[in-house]
Amino acid sequence: MLHASQNTVTQNIKSLREQIKALEQKYDRKAGSVQLLAVSKTHPIEDIRAAFSVNQTHFGENYLQDALSKINAITEPAIEWHFIGPIQSNKTRQIAQNFHWAHTIDRLKIARRLSEQRDPGLPPLNICIQVNTSGESAKSGIPPEKTLTLVKDIVQLPQLRLRGLMTIPAATDNFELQRKPFHLLHELKAEIEKQAIALDTLSMGMSNDMEAAIAEGSTMVRIGTAIFGPRQ
Ligand SMILES: *Cc1c(COP(=O)(O)O)cnc(C)c1O
Repeated sequence: MLHASQNTVTQNIKSLREQIKALEQKYDRKAGSVQLLAVSKTHPIEDIRAAFSVNQTHFGENYLQDALSKINAITEPAIEWHFIGPIQSNKTRQIAQNFHWAHTIDRLKIARRLSEQRDPGLPPLNICIQVNTSGESAKSGIPPEKTLTLVKDIVQLPQLRLRGLMTIPAATDNFELQRKPFHLLHELKAEIEKQAIALDTLSMGMSNDMEAAIAEGSTMVRIGTAIFGPRQ
């Protein structure tokens, strides 16, 4: 398998930091308001270490077994691991025990299990609710109109800390079309803040739609390819 060299990884991270800074300015976003989540799924431990060597501390993983072997191998306490893949019931225990964040909660059943299975000795698991902003073309996420009810249920769960909303829109190269689902998510966050609870996270934007996401208020871009190169 070919992987971007570790030098490339550190260069890519530095370049992304510059791009994010420039986009914050371009769209009147506060400096430092957009966090970089490095999506390291399928990439080797050496690439994660390379990213960490330039102070990248947030990493996103989709595949549980692959992620657990990395988490067990890299025991840097400064690293925060984000689970960003689909969550089935049989994965909740391992996610609750090994991750700092889970971005893909779209059902109360999964949220309940994560709260019950989170060790009370650990800080609460940070949660984002995944919202379907693309209608029928999306495989997962709760419909926007059902989100507020799920928010109100999740905030009752003691071992979870609801941080915000996440979305994976249908892919398009058209900038204006990219902005629409992100705009919708931003509006939904504002509505939830009015009706229920303050949120500090909009997890939106990937390698191909990062600018549109930052333009629409993203606070956390999830970037894989632009850091680590293409996946197999
Ligand atoms: C893989 C993945 C990413 C990263 O996508 P890139 O296009 O490689 O930047 C972001 N978010 C989720 C949920 C993913 O599964």
